[in-house]
Amino acid sequence: MIMSVRNDVVCTWCGCCCDDIEVRVEDGNIQSIENGCRLSKSKFLNHDRDRVDSPKIKRSGELVNVSMEEALEEVADILKDSEFPLIYGLSSTDVEAQRLSTELAEITGASIDNTSSVCHSPTIFAIQSIGAQECTLGEVKNRADLVFFWGSNPMSAHPRHPTRYSVMPAGLHTEGGREDRKIISVDVRETTTAKMADRFIQIEPGKDYELFSAIRATLKGYDLKEGVGGISPETIEELAQEMKEAKFGAIYFGLGLTMSTGKHMNVTAAIQLVKDLNDHTKFVINPMRGHFNVAGANKVLTWLTGYPLGVNFSRGYPIYGPGEFTAVDVLSRKECDAAVVIASDPASHLPSAASEHLADIPTVVLDPKFNATTYLADVVVPTAMAGIESEGTTYRMDGVPLRLKKVVDSDQMSDSEVLEKIIEKVR
Ligand code: SF4
Repeated sequence: MIMSVRNDVVCTWCGCCCDDIEVRVEDGNIQSIENGCRLSKSKFLNHDRDRVDSPKIKRSGELVNVSMEEALEEVADILKDSEFPLIYGLSSTDVEAQRLSTELAEITGASIDNTSSVCHSPTIFAIQSIGAQECTLGEVKNRADLVFFWGSNPMSAHPRHPTRYSVMPAGLHTEGGREDRKIISVDVRETTTAKMADRFIQIEPGKDYELFSAIRATLKGYDLKEGVGGISPETIEELAQEMKEAKFGAIYFGLGLTMSTGKHMNVTAAIQLVKDLNDHTKFVINPMRGHFNVAGANKVLTWLTGYPLGVNFSRGYPIYGPGEFTAVDVLSRKECDAAVVIASDPASHLPSAASEHLADIPTVVLDPKFNATTYLADVVVPTAMAGIESEGTTYRMDGVPLRLKKVVDSDQMSDSEVLEKIIEKVR
C-alpha cells in the first residue's frame, strides 16, 4: 500500500478557499481529510462519484461514448457553425481555464458570462459606481471587534468563515477570540448564524435599503420618528451607536441583499453607510462569495477585457452588457445559437426559459460529473476536477490568489488542456 499525506491543500468548495486541508491518499484514492468542514469532506471524499466516464455525443436522442478526438472535433464544428455562441459557468474552475475561455470567446465572437451574473453582480455594479472599503479575511481575524452578517448565513454556506476568520479565532488585536468580538446577524429569518450571534435583528423582507438609510440618518444626527422594516427607532439608535463605538467593524453580506428587492441599490446603501462610519471609526464591507473561484471569474475577465461579466465579442472587441449579454438574458430571449458550459450546471439554477433554450440549441458541457445540464447537452467532455485532480490558481473571496494542488491522478485532461485543444481546432 502506498500512502501519502498532502498538507496545506486548498478546499475548492466555497469562496473561503481554506488552505489548511490535510488530505490522506492511499493507493491513489483519497481516504480521509482533516480540517475541512462537512462541505469540504463531501467534495473531497466523493470526488470520484457520478463521474462522466467518457466523452459523449448525442445521437438519436441518446448520449453515446465517443473518442476524445471525435468529441473535440464536434465542439469545434459547433462553434465554427455558430453565429452567436455563449460561453458560461467558470466559477468552479481555475484561473488558467478562465483565461482560455475568454480567448475562446474572443476567437468565436461569443458572449462570455460567469455565475456571478445570478449572485453577486449587484455587488459589482455597486462597487463600480461608488467603490468600497474592502479588506482581507486576515485583517478581520486580526482586528475586527464588531462583525455583521447581513443577509448571509455562513454557518450553512461558509462553515469555517466564523471559526477561521470572523467569529472565533484569536488575532493580533483580538487575542480573546470570540470574547473580543460582538456578532450581529441581520436577516429576515432566524438562521443558524443568527442563533450563534450576540444579537439578531429580524428585518422585514425587502427593507434593507431603508434600514441602511435610517442608520445613516441617525449617524448624521437626525431623530427618527418611526422605525423601518419592523425595527424600532431605539434599536436603530443602538445599532448606530454600536457601529460608531467599534474599533474595527466589518459587514459580510450575501444574497439576502443582492438578490432581494433593491439589489445593487441595497449594496450601494450599505457601502454608503460604511463610508459614513469611516468618519467615526474603521469599518469595512465584504461580499460572501459562493463558488470557490467566482471571484477569479470576475477578476480574469476584467484583466482581459476590462469587464467582469456579460461580455460580448461579436464585433471583435469586448462589449460590456449586463442584462444584454448575460447568460439568463441571451438564453431566455433565444438569442444564442450554441452554448459551451464550463464547470457549471445552469439547467439546475437558471430560469426554465433559459434551460429550455439550452436544450434546443447545440450545447457542450465540460465537467467532471454528470448533472442536469449534461443530460440535455449534445456533447459532454469529461475533465479532471480542479484543485483535486489538477493544479491551478484560484482567487479567495477577498481577492487573495492561492495555488490549487493536485492530490490524486486522473485519466481526464484538465479544463485548461481541453480548452487549449478546442482553441487549436477552432483556429
Ligand atoms: S469553509 Fe468553505 S473553503 Fe473552508 S473547508 Fe468549508 S467548504 Fe471548504
